[in-house]
Amino acid sequence: MLDTTVTATELAPGIVLHTIETPSIGNRSYLVEQEGWAVAIDVERDVQRFADIVEQRGLHLGAVAETHLHNDYLSGGWALARRVGGEYLVPSGPAYSMPARATRDTETVEAGPIRVLVLETPGHTDAHQTLVVLDARGEPVGAFTGGSWLIGGAGRTDLMGEQNIVPLTRAQYRSIRRLGGELPDATRVLPTHGFGSSCLAGPLELSSGDTVGDQKASSMVFRVSEEEYLEAFVRGSGPIPPYYPSMAPRNVHGPDAWAPPTAPALSPTAATASGATIIDVRPWGAFERGHLPGSIAMPATGAVARWAGWQLPVGTPYVLVADSEQVAEDAHRDLARIGFDEVQGIVIADELDAETVAVDSAPFSALAQRQRAGTAPVVLDVRADDEWRLGHVVGAVHRPAQTIEPDAQLADEPVWVYCASGYRAGLVGSLVAREGGAVTVIAEAVDAAPGSGVDWCFAADCPDDRCTASATEPTVSR
Ligand SMILES: [Zn+2]
Ligand SMILES: [Zn+2]
Repeated sequence: MLDTTVTATELAPGIVLHTIETPSIGNRSYLVEQEGWAVAIDVERDVQRFADIVEQRGLHLGAVAETHLHNDYLSGGWALARRVGGEYLVPSGPAYSMPARATRDTETVEAGPIRVLVLETPGHTDAHQTLVVLDARGEPVGAFTGGSWLIGGAGRTDLMGEQNIVPLTRAQYRSIRRLGGELPDATRVLPTHGFGSSCLAGPLELSSGDTVGDQKASSMVFRVSEEEYLEAFVRGSGPIPPYYPSMAPRNVHGPDAWAPPTAPALSPTAATASGATIIDVRPWGAFERGHLPGSIAMPATGAVARWAGWQLPVGTPYVLVADSEQVAEDAHRDLARIGFDEVQGIVIADELDAETVAVDSAPFSALAQRQRAGTAPVVLDVRADDEWRLGHVVGAVHRPAQTIEPDAQLADEPVWVYCASGYRAGLVGSLVAREGGAVTVIAEAVDAAPGSGVDWCFAADCPDDRCTASATEPTVSR
Protein backbone atom coordinates (compact mmCIF):
# COMPACT_ATOMS: atom_id res chain seq x y z
CA MET A 1 0.00 0.00 0.00
CA LEU A 2 1.18 3.50 -0.71
CA ASP A 3 1.30 4.52 2.90
CA THR A 4 0.12 7.88 4.03
CA THR A 5 2.75 9.63 6.11
CA VAL A 6 2.64 12.33 8.74
CA THR A 7 5.61 14.54 9.41
CA ALA A 8 5.93 17.36 11.92
CA THR A 9 8.29 20.28 11.34
CA GLU A 10 8.67 23.78 12.71
CA LEU A 11 7.01 26.34 10.46
CA ALA A 12 8.12 29.24 12.66
CA PRO A 13 9.13 29.54 16.32
CA GLY A 14 6.21 28.11 18.29
CA ILE A 15 4.29 26.97 15.18
CA VAL A 16 4.36 23.29 14.24
CA LEU A 17 3.39 22.12 10.76
CA HIS A 18 1.98 18.60 10.45
CA THR A 19 2.05 17.46 6.83
CA ILE A 20 -0.29 14.56 6.07
CA GLU A 21 0.65 13.03 2.75
CA THR A 22 -1.70 10.87 0.68
CA PRO A 23 0.44 9.53 -2.17
CA SER A 24 -2.29 7.53 -3.88
CA ILE A 25 -3.99 10.75 -4.97
CA GLY A 26 -0.83 12.87 -4.90
CA ASN A 27 -2.06 15.35 -2.31
CA ARG A 28 -1.00 16.83 1.00
CA SER A 29 -3.19 17.99 3.86
CA TYR A 30 -1.94 20.04 6.75
CA LEU A 31 -2.51 20.73 10.39
CA VAL A 32 -1.02 23.86 11.93
CA GLU A 33 -0.40 23.75 15.67
CA GLN A 34 0.33 26.66 17.96
CA GLU A 35 0.09 26.85 21.77
CA GLY A 36 -2.36 23.97 22.08
CA TRP A 37 -4.57 25.09 19.18
CA ALA A 38 -4.83 23.66 15.67
CA VAL A 39 -6.18 24.51 12.24
CA ALA A 40 -6.59 21.73 9.64
CA ILE A 41 -6.43 22.42 5.91
CA ASP A 42 -7.80 20.39 2.98
CA VAL A 43 -8.69 17.29 4.94
CA GLU A 44 -9.49 13.99 3.25
CA ARG A 45 -12.28 11.65 4.14
CA ASP A 46 -10.25 9.36 6.39
CA VAL A 47 -10.37 11.96 9.12
CA GLN A 48 -9.00 9.72 11.86
CA ARG A 49 -5.48 10.64 10.77
CA PHE A 50 -6.23 14.24 11.72
CA ALA A 51 -8.27 13.39 14.82
CA ASP A 52 -5.35 11.28 16.08
CA ILE A 53 -2.90 14.20 15.95
CA VAL A 54 -5.39 16.46 17.72
CA GLU A 55 -6.01 13.87 20.42
CA GLN A 56 -2.44 12.68 20.92
CA ARG A 57 -1.15 16.22 21.30
CA GLY A 58 -4.12 17.39 23.35
CA LEU A 59 -5.00 20.17 20.91
CA HIS A 60 -8.09 22.28 20.51
CA LEU A 61 -9.13 22.21 16.86
CA GLY A 62 -10.19 25.78 16.18
CA ALA A 63 -10.93 25.56 12.46
CA VAL A 64 -11.04 23.19 9.52
CA ALA A 65 -10.48 25.05 6.26
CA GLU A 66 -10.83 24.34 2.55
CA THR A 67 -8.73 26.17 -0.01
CA HIS A 68 -11.31 25.28 -2.67
CA LEU A 69 -14.17 23.00 -3.56
CA HIS A 70 -12.28 19.86 -4.46
CA ASN A 71 -12.65 18.00 -7.73
CA ASP A 72 -10.18 15.21 -7.10
CA TYR A 73 -11.26 13.69 -3.79
CA LEU A 74 -14.08 13.66 -1.29
CA SER A 75 -13.43 16.16 1.45
CA GLY A 76 -13.38 15.15 5.10
CA GLY A 77 -13.35 18.76 6.27
CA TRP A 78 -16.94 18.96 7.43
CA ALA A 79 -16.80 15.43 8.88
CA LEU A 80 -13.71 16.35 10.92
CA ALA A 81 -15.27 19.61 12.14
CA ARG A 82 -18.34 17.67 13.30
CA ARG A 83 -16.33 14.93 14.95
CA VAL A 84 -13.65 16.98 16.69
CA GLY A 85 -15.00 20.52 16.65
CA GLY A 86 -13.91 23.75 15.00
CA GLU A 87 -15.39 26.17 12.56
CA TYR A 88 -15.65 24.97 8.94
CA LEU A 89 -14.08 27.60 6.70
CA VAL A 90 -14.82 27.58 2.97
CA PRO A 91 -14.27 30.00 0.10
CA SER A 92 -17.11 32.35 -0.83
CA GLY A 93 -19.04 31.23 -3.88
CA PRO A 94 -19.91 27.53 -3.90
CA ALA A 95 -23.32 26.66 -2.44
CA TYR A 96 -22.19 24.64 0.56
CA SER A 97 -25.20 23.13 2.32
CA MET A 98 -23.79 22.95 5.84
CA PRO A 99 -23.38 25.85 8.28
CA ALA A 100 -19.92 26.75 6.99
CA ARG A 101 -18.25 30.12 7.33
CA ALA A 102 -17.47 31.59 3.91
CA THR A 103 -14.33 33.69 4.12
CA ARG A 104 -13.37 36.73 2.07
CA ASP A 105 -10.28 38.29 0.61
CA THR A 106 -7.96 39.99 3.16
CA GLU A 107 -10.01 38.73 6.10
CA THR A 108 -7.99 37.40 9.04
CA VAL A 109 -9.40 34.35 10.81
CA GLU A 110 -8.33 33.63 14.38
CA ALA A 111 -8.32 30.22 16.03
CA GLY A 112 -6.89 30.82 19.50
CA PRO A 113 -3.40 32.21 18.86
CA ILE A 114 -3.35 31.01 15.23
CA ARG A 115 -3.95 33.79 12.74
CA VAL A 116 -4.79 33.02 9.13
CA LEU A 117 -4.95 35.69 6.43
CA VAL A 118 -7.29 34.83 3.55
CA LEU A 119 -6.17 35.79 0.04
CA GLU A 120 -8.53 34.96 -2.80
CA THR A 121 -6.52 33.21 -5.52
CA PRO A 122 -8.90 32.12 -8.28
CA GLY A 123 -7.59 30.11 -11.23
CA HIS A 124 -7.65 26.40 -10.41
CA THR A 125 -11.30 26.97 -9.55
CA ASP A 126 -13.23 30.24 -9.58
CA ALA A 127 -13.65 30.34 -5.80
CA HIS A 128 -10.22 29.50 -4.47
CA GLN A 129 -8.40 30.91 -1.50
CA THR A 130 -4.86 30.79 -0.20
CA LEU A 131 -4.65 30.61 3.58
CA VAL A 132 -1.62 32.44 4.93
CA VAL A 133 -0.52 31.61 8.46
CA LEU A 134 0.99 34.62 10.29
CA ASP A 135 3.55 34.48 13.07
CA ALA A 136 3.38 36.36 16.37
CA ARG A 137 4.62 39.55 14.65
CA GLY A 138 1.94 39.26 11.96
CA GLU A 139 4.45 38.18 9.31
CA PRO A 140 3.42 35.49 6.79
CA VAL A 141 5.27 32.21 7.42
CA GLY A 142 3.31 29.63 5.43
CA ALA A 143 0.94 29.97 2.48
CA PHE A 144 -1.49 27.08 1.98
CA THR A 145 -1.99 27.51 -1.72
CA GLY A 146 -4.31 24.54 -2.45
CA GLY A 147 -4.45 24.16 -6.22
CA SER A 148 -3.13 27.61 -7.04
CA TRP A 149 0.64 27.97 -6.73
CA LEU A 150 2.19 24.50 -6.67
CA ILE A 151 5.77 23.41 -6.11
CA GLY A 152 7.16 23.57 -9.62
CA GLY A 153 4.03 24.77 -11.36
CA ALA A 154 0.36 25.59 -11.04
CA GLY A 155 -2.93 23.77 -10.66
CA ARG A 156 -4.87 22.87 -13.79
CA THR A 157 -7.46 25.42 -14.87
CA ASP A 158 -9.70 23.25 -17.05
CA LEU A 159 -11.97 21.75 -14.40
CA MET A 160 -14.83 24.23 -14.75
CA GLY A 161 -15.68 23.70 -18.38
CA GLU A 162 -14.12 24.60 -21.70
CA GLN A 163 -15.56 28.12 -21.69
CA ASN A 164 -13.80 28.98 -18.43
CA ILE A 165 -10.30 27.77 -19.27
CA VAL A 166 -9.03 31.07 -20.64
CA PRO A 167 -10.44 33.33 -17.89
CA LEU A 168 -9.33 30.89 -15.19
CA THR A 169 -5.82 30.60 -16.66
CA ARG A 170 -5.53 34.40 -16.68
CA ALA A 171 -6.78 34.42 -13.09
CA GLN A 172 -4.26 31.73 -12.13
CA TYR A 173 -1.41 33.81 -13.54
CA ARG A 174 -2.54 36.91 -11.66
CA SER A 175 -3.14 34.99 -8.43
CA ILE A 176 0.36 33.52 -8.42
CA ARG A 177 1.92 36.87 -9.24
CA ARG A 178 -0.09 38.41 -6.45
CA LEU A 179 1.19 35.84 -3.96
CA GLY A 180 4.73 36.36 -5.21
CA GLY A 181 4.35 40.11 -4.83
CA GLU A 182 2.66 40.22 -1.44
CA LEU A 183 4.37 37.42 0.47
CA PRO A 184 7.93 37.69 1.84
CA ASP A 185 10.47 35.48 0.05
CA ALA A 186 10.94 33.28 3.11
CA THR A 187 7.25 32.27 3.27
CA ARG A 188 6.79 28.53 2.68
CA VAL A 189 4.58 27.56 -0.27
CA LEU A 190 2.44 24.67 1.00
CA PRO A 191 0.08 23.42 -1.71
CA THR A 192 -2.43 20.60 -1.58
CA HIS A 193 -1.92 19.33 -5.12
CA GLY A 194 1.18 18.57 -7.09
CA PHE A 195 2.77 15.58 -5.39
CA GLY A 196 1.78 13.18 -8.15
CA SER A 197 -1.80 14.40 -8.46
CA SER A 198 -3.59 14.83 -11.76
CA CYS A 199 -4.23 18.47 -10.79
CA LEU A 200 -0.74 19.70 -11.68
CA ALA A 201 -0.76 21.19 -15.16
CA GLY A 202 2.16 21.14 -17.53
CA PRO A 203 5.69 19.88 -17.05
CA LEU A 204 7.20 20.20 -13.61
CA GLU A 205 9.59 23.16 -13.23
CA LEU A 206 12.60 22.25 -11.11
CA SER A 207 13.05 24.45 -8.08
CA SER A 208 15.58 24.56 -5.29
CA GLY A 209 13.12 24.74 -2.41
CA ASP A 210 9.59 25.44 -1.31
CA THR A 211 9.75 29.08 -0.28
CA VAL A 212 8.15 31.95 -2.18
CA GLY A 213 11.67 33.07 -3.16
CA ASP A 214 12.62 29.62 -4.49
CA GLN A 215 9.41 29.27 -6.44
CA LYS A 216 9.60 32.78 -7.89
CA ALA A 217 13.09 31.99 -9.19
CA SER A 218 11.91 28.90 -11.09
CA SER A 219 8.32 29.71 -12.04
CA MET A 220 7.39 30.58 -15.60
CA VAL A 221 4.73 32.93 -14.19
CA PHE A 222 7.44 35.39 -13.20
CA ARG A 223 9.33 35.18 -16.50
CA VAL A 224 6.63 35.53 -19.14
CA SER A 225 3.72 37.81 -19.95
CA GLU A 226 0.13 36.83 -19.26
CA GLU A 227 -0.42 36.18 -22.98
CA GLU A 228 2.64 33.94 -23.22
CA TYR A 229 1.57 32.12 -20.09
CA LEU A 230 -1.90 31.58 -21.48
CA GLU A 231 -0.54 30.05 -24.64
CA ALA A 232 1.95 27.76 -22.89
CA PHE A 233 -0.28 26.73 -20.03
CA VAL A 234 -3.53 25.92 -21.79
CA ARG A 235 -1.80 23.14 -23.71
CA GLY A 236 -0.26 21.71 -20.57
CA SER A 237 -3.09 19.90 -18.84
CA GLY A 238 -3.51 16.20 -19.49
CA PRO A 239 -6.84 14.37 -19.66
CA ILE A 240 -9.25 14.88 -16.76
CA PRO A 241 -9.80 11.70 -14.73
CA PRO A 242 -13.41 10.61 -15.35
CA TYR A 243 -14.30 10.53 -11.67
CA TYR A 244 -13.48 14.23 -11.13
CA PRO A 245 -16.89 15.68 -12.11
CA SER A 246 -18.66 13.68 -9.40
CA MET A 247 -16.55 14.99 -6.49
CA ALA A 248 -17.56 18.68 -6.16
CA PRO A 249 -21.34 17.98 -6.17
CA ARG A 250 -20.79 15.73 -3.16
CA ASN A 251 -18.29 18.00 -1.45
CA VAL A 252 -20.78 20.87 -1.13
CA HIS A 253 -22.81 18.59 1.14
CA GLY A 254 -19.91 17.39 3.29
CA PRO A 255 -19.33 13.66 2.69
CA ASP A 256 -19.38 11.31 5.65
CA ALA A 257 -16.08 10.27 7.15
CA TRP A 258 -14.64 7.01 5.91
CA ALA A 259 -15.49 3.97 8.04
CA PRO A 260 -13.96 0.48 7.80
CA PRO A 261 -15.84 -1.82 5.42
CA THR A 262 -18.60 -3.96 6.83
CA ALA A 263 -18.93 -6.02 3.66
CA PRO A 264 -19.02 -9.80 4.19
CA ALA A 265 -16.11 -12.14 3.67
CA LEU A 266 -16.84 -14.07 0.47
CA SER A 267 -15.55 -17.31 -0.91
CA PRO A 268 -13.92 -16.97 -4.30
CA THR A 269 -16.90 -18.73 -5.87
CA ALA A 270 -19.37 -16.37 -4.21
CA ALA A 271 -17.29 -13.39 -5.32
CA THR A 272 -17.45 -14.52 -8.94
CA ALA A 273 -21.18 -15.19 -8.64
CA SER A 274 -21.86 -11.74 -7.13
CA GLY A 275 -21.60 -10.03 -10.48
CA ALA A 276 -19.64 -7.16 -8.91
CA THR A 277 -16.41 -5.91 -10.47
CA ILE A 278 -13.57 -7.84 -8.87
CA ILE A 279 -10.63 -5.65 -7.92
CA ASP A 280 -7.62 -7.79 -7.03
CA VAL A 281 -5.15 -5.84 -4.91
CA ARG A 282 -2.72 -8.71 -4.27
CA PRO A 283 0.86 -8.42 -5.53
CA TRP A 284 1.23 -8.96 -9.27
CA GLY A 285 2.95 -12.34 -8.88
CA ALA A 286 -0.08 -13.80 -7.10
CA PHE A 287 -2.43 -12.41 -9.74
CA GLU A 288 -0.24 -13.78 -12.50
CA ARG A 289 -0.28 -17.30 -11.01
CA GLY A 290 -4.02 -17.38 -10.49
CA HIS A 291 -6.90 -14.94 -10.24
CA LEU A 292 -10.66 -15.06 -10.48
CA PRO A 293 -11.77 -14.84 -14.11
CA GLY A 294 -12.62 -11.28 -15.11
CA SER A 295 -10.86 -9.60 -12.20
CA ILE A 296 -8.83 -6.41 -12.55
CA ALA A 297 -5.26 -6.25 -11.25
CA MET A 298 -4.66 -3.18 -9.10
CA PRO A 299 -1.98 -4.23 -6.60
CA ALA A 300 -2.12 -2.35 -3.33
CA THR A 301 1.57 -1.57 -3.77
CA GLY A 302 0.43 1.17 -6.16
CA ALA A 303 -2.15 3.92 -6.31
CA VAL A 304 -5.36 1.87 -6.25
CA ALA A 305 -7.60 4.93 -6.01
CA ARG A 306 -5.93 6.71 -8.89
CA TRP A 307 -6.28 3.72 -11.21
CA ALA A 308 -9.83 2.90 -10.17
CA GLY A 309 -10.64 6.55 -10.85
CA TRP A 310 -9.31 6.24 -14.38
CA GLN A 311 -10.78 2.85 -15.19
CA LEU A 312 -14.13 2.50 -13.43
CA PRO A 313 -17.24 4.66 -13.04
CA VAL A 314 -17.75 5.97 -9.50
CA GLY A 315 -20.50 3.91 -7.91
CA THR A 316 -19.32 0.63 -9.43
CA PRO A 317 -20.15 -2.21 -7.02
CA TYR A 318 -16.96 -4.12 -6.36
CA VAL A 319 -15.43 -7.05 -4.51
CA LEU A 320 -11.89 -6.82 -3.19
CA VAL A 321 -9.45 -9.71 -3.36
CA ALA A 322 -6.58 -9.16 -0.92
CA ASP A 323 -4.06 -11.28 0.92
CA SER A 324 -4.98 -9.88 4.34
CA GLU A 325 -7.83 -8.03 6.03
CA GLN A 326 -5.56 -5.08 6.66
CA VAL A 327 -4.69 -4.73 2.97
CA ALA A 328 -8.39 -4.99 2.07
CA GLU A 329 -9.27 -2.28 4.58
CA ASP A 330 -6.48 -0.01 3.33
CA ALA A 331 -7.59 -0.51 -0.27
CA HIS A 332 -11.18 0.27 0.67
CA ARG A 333 -10.11 3.46 2.44
CA ASP A 334 -8.10 4.46 -0.60
CA LEU A 335 -11.02 3.81 -2.95
CA ALA A 336 -13.50 5.58 -0.65
CA ARG A 337 -11.38 8.74 -0.80
CA ILE A 338 -12.69 9.20 -4.33
CA GLY A 339 -16.16 7.84 -3.74
CA PHE A 340 -15.90 4.12 -4.41
CA ASP A 341 -18.00 3.10 -1.41
CA GLU A 342 -19.92 0.16 -2.83
CA VAL A 343 -17.80 -2.75 -1.64
CA GLN A 344 -19.95 -5.87 -1.81
CA GLY A 345 -17.58 -8.35 -0.26
CA ILE A 346 -13.99 -9.20 0.50
CA VAL A 347 -12.02 -12.31 -0.44
CA ILE A 348 -8.98 -12.90 1.75
CA ALA A 349 -6.44 -15.26 0.24
CA ASP A 350 -2.86 -15.01 -0.87
CA GLU A 351 -3.38 -17.95 -3.20
CA LEU A 352 -6.91 -18.70 -4.37
CA ASP A 353 -8.12 -22.30 -4.27
CA ALA A 354 -11.13 -21.85 -6.52
CA GLU A 355 -11.28 -21.93 -10.30
CA THR A 356 -8.61 -19.45 -11.33
CA VAL A 357 -6.87 -18.38 -14.49
CA ALA A 358 -3.25 -17.35 -14.98
CA VAL A 359 -1.70 -14.60 -17.10
CA ASP A 360 1.26 -15.13 -19.37
CA SER A 361 4.19 -12.98 -18.51
CA ALA A 362 7.60 -12.61 -20.10
CA PRO A 363 10.70 -10.44 -19.92
CA PHE A 364 11.79 -8.04 -22.66
CA SER A 365 14.43 -10.59 -23.75
CA ALA A 366 11.62 -12.97 -24.79
CA LEU A 367 10.17 -10.20 -26.94
CA ALA A 368 13.64 -9.66 -28.44
CA GLN A 369 13.77 -13.35 -29.40
CA ARG A 370 10.38 -13.09 -31.09
CA GLN A 371 11.55 -10.00 -32.97
CA ARG A 372 14.71 -11.77 -34.16
CA ALA A 373 12.71 -14.82 -35.23
CA GLY A 374 10.45 -12.57 -37.28
CA THR A 375 7.41 -13.49 -35.19
CA ALA A 376 7.09 -10.23 -33.25
CA PRO A 377 3.63 -9.91 -31.66
CA VAL A 378 1.52 -6.76 -31.45
CA VAL A 379 3.13 -4.71 -28.67
CA LEU A 380 1.16 -2.23 -26.61
CA ASP A 381 2.95 0.58 -24.75
CA VAL A 382 0.62 1.90 -22.04
CA ARG A 383 2.85 4.64 -20.65
CA ALA A 384 2.13 8.37 -20.78
CA ASP A 385 3.02 10.58 -23.76
CA ASP A 386 6.21 11.99 -22.23
CA GLU A 387 7.46 8.49 -21.38
CA TRP A 388 6.74 7.28 -24.91
CA ARG A 389 8.72 10.14 -26.38
CA LEU A 390 11.84 9.07 -24.46
CA GLY A 391 11.88 5.82 -26.45
CA HIS A 392 9.79 2.72 -27.00
CA VAL A 393 9.73 -0.73 -28.54
CA VAL A 394 9.95 -0.49 -32.32
CA GLY A 395 6.55 -0.95 -33.93
CA ALA A 396 4.67 -0.59 -30.62
CA VAL A 397 1.15 0.79 -30.45
CA HIS A 398 0.88 3.58 -27.91
CA ARG A 399 -2.22 3.72 -25.72
CA PRO A 400 -1.72 5.42 -22.31
CA ALA A 401 -3.32 3.28 -19.60
CA GLN A 402 -5.48 6.21 -18.49
CA THR A 403 -7.24 6.27 -21.82
CA ILE A 404 -8.11 2.58 -21.94
CA GLU A 405 -11.72 1.81 -21.12
CA PRO A 406 -12.35 -1.40 -19.16
CA ASP A 407 -14.29 -2.92 -22.06
CA ALA A 408 -11.87 -1.79 -24.76
CA GLN A 409 -11.25 -4.29 -27.52
CA LEU A 410 -7.53 -3.68 -27.74
CA ALA A 411 -6.43 -6.20 -30.30
CA ASP A 412 -7.87 -9.03 -32.36
CA GLU A 413 -4.61 -10.89 -32.07
CA PRO A 414 -2.38 -11.74 -29.11
CA VAL A 415 -0.87 -8.63 -27.59
CA TRP A 416 2.17 -8.01 -25.39
CA VAL A 417 1.90 -5.10 -22.96
CA TYR A 418 4.59 -3.09 -21.18
CA CYS A 419 4.88 0.11 -19.13
CA ALA A 420 7.62 1.54 -16.88
CA SER A 421 7.41 -0.70 -13.82
CA GLY A 422 4.97 -3.43 -14.82
CA TYR A 423 2.08 -1.98 -12.78
CA ARG A 424 0.11 -0.46 -15.63
CA ALA A 425 1.02 -3.36 -17.93
CA GLY A 426 -0.52 -5.77 -15.42
CA LEU A 427 -3.60 -3.62 -15.04
CA VAL A 428 -4.14 -3.27 -18.78
CA GLY A 429 -3.26 -6.95 -19.27
CA SER A 430 -6.03 -7.86 -16.86
CA LEU A 431 -8.47 -5.68 -18.84
CA VAL A 432 -7.48 -7.40 -22.09
CA ALA A 433 -7.89 -10.84 -20.52
CA ARG A 434 -11.25 -9.77 -19.07
CA GLU A 435 -12.51 -9.14 -22.58
CA GLY A 436 -11.29 -12.53 -23.73
CA GLY A 437 -8.09 -11.31 -25.40
CA ALA A 438 -4.80 -13.21 -25.39
CA VAL A 439 -2.21 -11.18 -23.54
CA THR A 440 1.37 -11.44 -22.34
CA VAL A 441 2.38 -8.97 -19.65
CA ILE A 442 5.96 -7.75 -19.59
CA ALA A 443 6.20 -7.44 -15.83
CA GLU A 444 9.66 -5.96 -15.94
CA ALA A 445 10.96 -2.40 -15.57
CA VAL A 446 11.33 -0.64 -18.90
CA ASP A 447 14.92 0.27 -17.98
CA ALA A 448 15.72 -3.33 -18.86
CA ALA A 449 14.36 -2.96 -22.39
CA PRO A 450 17.15 -1.21 -24.33
CA GLY A 451 19.76 -3.68 -23.01
CA SER A 452 17.59 -6.76 -23.56
CA GLY A 453 18.21 -6.92 -27.27
CA VAL A 454 14.73 -5.68 -28.08
CA ASP A 455 14.43 -3.28 -31.04
CA TRP A 456 14.19 0.12 -29.42
CA CYS A 457 13.12 3.35 -31.09
CA PHE A 458 14.61 6.60 -29.83
CA ALA A 459 12.81 8.83 -32.32
CA ALA A 460 11.38 11.75 -30.34
CA ASP A 461 9.15 12.66 -33.27
CA CYS A 462 7.69 9.18 -33.56
CA PRO A 463 3.89 9.36 -33.80
CA ASP A 464 1.93 8.86 -30.63
CA ASP A 465 -0.35 6.11 -31.91
CA ARG A 466 1.84 3.59 -33.72
CA CYS A 467 5.60 3.53 -33.99
CA THR A 468 6.60 3.64 -37.62
CA ALA A 469 10.31 3.00 -37.12
CA SER A 470 11.45 0.05 -39.16
CA ALA A 471 11.13 -3.18 -37.24
CA THR A 472 13.58 -4.87 -39.56
CA GLU A 473 16.61 -2.96 -38.34
CA PRO A 474 18.32 -4.95 -35.58
CA THR A 475 18.69 -1.95 -33.31
CA VAL A 476 17.71 1.65 -33.74
CA SER A 477 20.33 4.15 -32.76
CA ARG A 478 19.75 7.74 -31.86
ZN1 LIG B 1 -8.07 21.03 -6.68
ZN1 LIG C 1 9.03 4.88 -32.69
